[in-house]
Amino acid sequence: MSNLTESMNKEQIASMQNRMSNLERLLRLMQVINSTLETDPLLDIIVQVATELTNTESASILLVDEESGELRFVAATGQSSADLKPIPVPIEGSVAGTVVTGNKPLLIRDAPSDPRWYQDVDRVSGIVTHSLAAVPMQVRGKVIGVVEALNKRGGGEMTWDDVDILSTLATQAAVAIQNAHWIAALQVAYNKLNELDRLKSEFIAVAAHELRTPLSLILGYATFLREEASGTAKEQVDIVLQSAIRLRLLIEDMVSLRQVDAGEAALKLETVELHDLVDSAVREIQSMAEAKGQEIVLSSRHSGPIVTQVDRAKMIIVLVKLLSNAIKYTSRGGRIGVQTGRDADNAWFTVWDTGIGISATDLSRIFDRFYQVEPSLARRYEGLGLGLAIAKEMVELHRGHIRVQSQEGKGSAFTVTLPIHPPS
Ligand code: ADP
Repeated sequence: MSNLTESMNKEQIASMQNRMSNLERLLRLMQVINSTLETDPLLDIIVQVATELTNTESASILLVDEESGELRFVAATGQSSADLKPIPVPIEGSVAGTVVTGNKPLLIRDAPSDPRWYQDVDRVSGIVTHSLAAVPMQVRGKVIGVVEALNKRGGGEMTWDDVDILSTLATQAAVAIQNAHWIAALQVAYNKLNELDRLKSEFIAVAAHELRTPLSLILGYATFLREEASGTAKEQVDIVLQSAIRLRLLIEDMVSLRQVDAGEAALKLETVELHDLVDSAVREIQSMAEAKGQEIVLSSRHSGPIVTQVDRAKMIIVLVKLLSNAIKYTSRGGRIGVQTGRDADNAWFTVWDTGIGISATDLSRIFDRFYQVEPSLARRYEGLGLGLAIAKEMVELHRGHIRVQSQEGKGSAFTVTLPIHPPS
C-alpha cells in the first residue's frame, strides 16, 4: 500500500469511494439527458438519481406556474408522487417559494419548527417531513423552479454536500426543460411552415388548372399566326409565343408539383437512349435560347449510345427545368450546354451554364420548395421557386441523385446521376 493510502483513515476512503460512485451516476445521468428529448421521463430519472445520491426518502421537482404564480410538482419519487402533482405550493409561506424568491439554496434540519415550511404537502402525501434541502433551478438567470430532497434515510442529517448534488441535478433539469420548450416551439413553427407549404401547393394546383386551357389556345393561335405572318408582324408574334412558352413552363411546374404531392408521380419506366432524350428536351426549349441569342452546346463523354431505363416524360421535365434555368440565369449571348456520360452502373447528364452562378450559402437551399435566391419583391427573374424541388423529387423517384456545382459570376452545373437499371 502506498504511504498516501496508509495515511488515510477508513472513513476518508469510504467517503472518497462514495463520491466517486456519485460522480459516476451523475455522468451516466448526463449521458441519458443528452440522448433523450422527452422531458417527463427525464425529470423522473433526475428525481430518482437525486433520491439515490442524497440517500433520502424522496426528491421532487417543482416548477413555477406562470399563470397562477404558484409552484407545481412535475416529478417526485416515493409512493406519493401521483398525489403530489395536483397540489399547488404557494410562493409565500413555503420553503420552495423562499428558494424561488431568494434564488438561494436552503437546508432545513427541523422542518416542523420552521415557519417557511408548508404543511399541506405532508397532509396530502402522508409523508412526515423532518429535514429538507431545496435548490433553485435557473434558466438564463431566471428561477423557473426548485429541486428538493427530504428526510435522510436511516435518520441522518442532510448536509451541504446534498445541496451541492441537488444543485448539479437542478442545472441538468433546467437544460432538459429548456430543450423541451425549444423543441415544442420548433415543432409549432415547423407545423406552421408545412401548413403554409400545403396551402401554397393547393392554391397553385387550382391556379394551374385554370390557366392551362386558355394558355393552350394562345399557344395554338400564336404558332399558327407565326407561320402565316412575315416581317414586323412575325417578330411581334414571336414575342407572344416566347411569353406563352415561359408561361407554359411555369404551369408545368405547378402541375408536376401536384402530381408529386398526390402520389401520382409513379414511374413508368421505359428503355430510353440518353442522347435522344437530351435532343427532345433541347428541341422543346430551343426557341427560348434562340430568343436570348444563346447557344446550347451538346457533348458526350461516352462514344456509343447510353441506354437507360427511365420515365421518359418525367426526365424530359427534369431536363427542360434545368435547361430553362440555365437559359434564364445566363445573360444574352451566353453559352449553355448538356454533357452526357456513363459508368458501369450509372448514366449521368450535366446541364451547365455560364450565367450568374449561386452563392455557397444559397447552394444548400435551392432544392427546397419555394426557395428563391432573390427576395420575391425585388426579383429580376420570373419563377415560383419550385423547379429544382420538382426536378429533385423526380430524380429521386428514379433512385438517382442531383447535385450542383456553382461559382458566383462564373456559372453553374447541375448533374443528374441515374442508375442504369433502377430497382423496380
Ligand atoms: P425558379 O422557378 O425561381 O427558377 P428553381 O427551383 O428552379 O426556382 O430554382 C431555385 C433558385 O435557384 C432560383 O430562384 C435561382 O435563384 C437559383 N437557380 C436555379 N438554377 C440556377 C442557375 N442555373 N443559375 C443560377 N441560379 C440558379
